[in-house]
Amino acid sequence: MDAIAGDGDHGIGMQRGSDAALEAARAAAEAGAGAATLLDRAGDAWSDRAGGTSGALWGVALRAIGGALGDEAAPTARAVAAGVAAARDGIRAYGKAQVGDKTMVDALVPFAETLDRDVDADRGLADAWVAAAAAASAAAAATADLLPRMGRARPHAEKSLGTPDPGAHSFALIVTAVGEVLTG
Ligand code: ADP
Ligand code: MG
Ligand code: MG
Repeated sequence: MDAIAGDGDHGIGMQRGSDAALEAARAAAEAGAGAATLLDRAGDAWSDRAGGTSGALWGVALRAIGGALGDEAAPTARAVAAGVAAARDGIRAYGKAQVGDKTMVDALVPFAETLDRDVDADRGLADAWVAAAAAASAAAAATADLLPRMGRARPHAEKSLGTPDPGAHSFALIVTAVGEVLTG
């Protein structure tokens, strides 16, 4: 997807970043770190090793979620939803993309909204997360109809028509995979 209108490195960057984040998270967990410290280290590793815009943004997201969870208590559904809202706000502040610019923000915003609403309705974290992931997947697919207004795809806007934004698509894949873990 990134080769059509971008520079073709999105999958490579995501793989490098998520591998590095997993390694850092495992090391932090073995050292007995709480959620905030673990996500902080994972976020740093992701942005350091992925390179590229999306790596920096995923680093922002993981650190923001960690900041909302703290190190002490076991994460509640409400704290996770607050963390995802903080990740959304952090990514929007860092990257300045609006909904409709054809970026990962197009999937992240409906994800955060659905998670927040369903957690407030006491659906439980796993069910709320799965509903939010479905909203993110639908929104990511719908980016195929948009013209990119941010990032490297912008100069090749017309070529991108008919193809979803790679960052929105990978966001949907990740939150769907997390939902599968949460529902066991
Ligand atoms: P790069 O563009 O540096 O090669 P990647 O290919 O890894 O980085 O990531 C591209 C993705 O990053 C895009 O598909 C889009 O989802 C996301 N992106 C690019 N710029 C922004 C931005 N300003 N705000 C939010 N997301 C962005
Ligand atoms: Mg790229
Ligand atoms: Mg690149």
